[in-house]
Amino acid sequence: MFSLAEKIAIVTGGAAGIGLGIAKQLREAGATVVIADINKERADEVAADIGAESLYVDVTSTADIKNMLDTVLERHGRLDIMCANSGIFPQATIAEMTEEDWDQMMNVNLKSTFLVLKPTFEQMQKQGSGRVVITSSITGSITGYPGWSHYGASKAGQQGFMRSAALEYAKDGITVNAVLPGNILTEGLEAQGEEYLASMTRSIPARRLGKPEEIGAAAVFLASDEAGYVTGQTIIVDGGQLLPESPEAVL
Ligand code: NAP
Repeated sequence: MFSLAEKIAIVTGGAAGIGLGIAKQLREAGATVVIADINKERADEVAADIGAESLYVDVTSTADIKNMLDTVLERHGRLDIMCANSGIFPQATIAEMTEEDWDQMMNVNLKSTFLVLKPTFEQMQKQGSGRVVITSSITGSITGYPGWSHYGASKAGQQGFMRSAALEYAKDGITVNAVLPGNILTEGLEAQGEEYLASMTRSIPARRLGKPEEIGAAAVFLASDEAGYVTGQTIIVDGGQLLPESPEAVL
């Protein structure tokens, strides 16, 4: 079950955090993995560690995205799995937020989803098959968090895009799904500070933050042949954080 042997996969933002957790699990399942990240040096290092390949990409650049796909197609002739994972989450209250803050969030998190997936779909349509896994979030579509109105909007937006994309490409053997992480201990999350990490840990019934590989495991399932009849769906991986009806669950 869930072997990805002979599959070719790209993970954007794969040089750190959740992307790296996804890349590791795809490798474990036998896929050929290309880590595509804006931090090329770190991508080279982690790729060497896990037996993956690495590429530079800024997912806000159509030229970089074209280069990423051209390179992978030159090397491997096909693309089976695209994990559109890269994202940023700087905090700003609405009162503090500038138009530039808003635009940056939308460009890196939401517009990039369209920019990366449009040529991905074109290629997968030619092949008659493909798996797209978007790293979205519980924030925005389900929860809110003060300081993350722009982030939440970008992550909810990804899910809106996903549902229509799933319909447009269902007949082509392409599935489009999203993983919704709760609070996963990554470099990006650590940057929110000790207080944030401690208060999140207290609010999670599992009493711990998630591990990047736990998002990777959900991505492996959604990328597998066995998940071929699952499309337009979300999998929440949050240690039960969304469930409590009363504080007792986390006392
Ligand atoms: P992270 O630790 O900051 O890692 C993200 C990686 O993406 C970094 O290597 C980063 O490079 C790279 N990146 C940033 N901008 C990029 C761009 N324009 N083009 C290509 N690569 C870029 O973040 P993470 O916590 O793993 O989050 C990954 C994804 O999961 C994001 O979409 C995030 O919204 C989502 N998510 C995370 C959590 C969580 O708890 N961690 C929860 C819900 C959803 P630099 O370090 O050089 O910027």
